[in-house]
Amino acid sequence: MKFDLLIENVNIATMVGDDYGILESHDIGVNGGKIAYLAPTPTPTPTKQWVTPGLIDCHTHLVYAGNRATEFEARLGGDTYQQIAQRGGGILSTVAATRAASEEELTLSAQKRLNQLLVEGVTTVEVKSGYGLDLESEAKMLQVAAGLKGSNIRRTLLAAHAIPAEFRGDSDGFVDVVCNSIIPELAHECDAVDAFCEGIAFSLTQTQQVFDAAKRYGIPIKLHADQLSDLGGAGLAARNQALSADHVEYTSEASVEEMQNSGTVAVLLPGAFYFLRETQKPPIELFRQYGVPMAIATDHNPGSSPCLSLLLCMNMACVLFGLSPLEALRGVTTNAAQALGLREDIGTIELGKRADLAVFDIVHPRDLSSKFGVNPCSGRYLNGIKQPD
Ligand SMILES: [Zn+2]
Repeated sequence: MKFDLLIENVNIATMVGDDYGILESHDIGVNGGKIAYLAPTPTPTPTKQWVTPGLIDCHTHLVYAGNRATEFEARLGGDTYQQIAQRGGGILSTVAATRAASEEELTLSAQKRLNQLLVEGVTTVEVKSGYGLDLESEAKMLQVAAGLKGSNIRRTLLAAHAIPAEFRGDSDGFVDVVCNSIIPELAHECDAVDAFCEGIAFSLTQTQQVFDAAKRYGIPIKLHADQLSDLGGAGLAARNQALSADHVEYTSEASVEEMQNSGTVAVLLPGAFYFLRETQKPPIELFRQYGVPMAIATDHNPGSSPCLSLLLCMNMACVLFGLSPLEALRGVTTNAAQALGLREDIGTIELGKRADLAVFDIVHPRDLSSKFGVNPCSGRYLNGIKQPD
């Protein structure tokens, strides 16, 4: 048989089934960018090379300008994230810097960050807008995301991220602009629509309006839900068949129950939990009980999770939230694919799936979560094409 690419004599964590789906000493053949052949190596030799599905970072805010290290100092001095947000810091300071930045500047800085994610075996990254908060700047962010190289990019329109300064005191007025101008204009520039449902951002009613607008254009939805308080955001997301509810630290059992059969993935963001020194952990045991799939992402952003290591977030999800290494790997493969609506294409190693693959020098896939500050990735394939180191 002839293949565009044949990877020989590797151990594979296919992530198919209830376990890692391990195939020892196998060959992987690729044709037309898809996995076309999976079979035992004819004359195997012992190998420490493991292949997993390419890792997926399903929640990032990778495109932005500015620097928020002073806020880090302020928080260490005792200020809270909410206090900083209320005095015009936080998201709004990034908005001002991002509006002022050119497309070229944004592309240069975002590409640097993306490259850091990719060296760990990441092949798909979701990138949100949300630091523009007007039509022109949101369009600029999505445009920059589309031009990033070296990874599959999924773009999410997060115009309902914060209330911009020009709409202070008139959040309904801004929601009206989001629903009747920004979403209609940018419907063809995004793969999903997201919102920040929280006391310091948008209410349940406003979030529902954003969801309704997205649905009018057939765009899948996601939600920043229950990060700082339980507003019932995850339940609202589930009732709207959202792809995911993200953060979910304060999510109640009633909301978890609503997520049970909705297909909505709980996306855990341990980097933000860690960096904001939160103490309220997401209800992991309830997610397990109700069979809600859990994904893990970096939530990379300049204010609350300036982290560019998905492997570190896997370790944090284990140490801080109690996930198993198997749940952690599933959280950045199959379940992250589901959180992006890509379960049919990526997230497992199976015939017919896209040949997005990561290669690691490890003894067992559990090693990916059981260390931190270590990068065992030795190769990456995107659509069956070997990527430069
Ligand atoms: Zn976020």
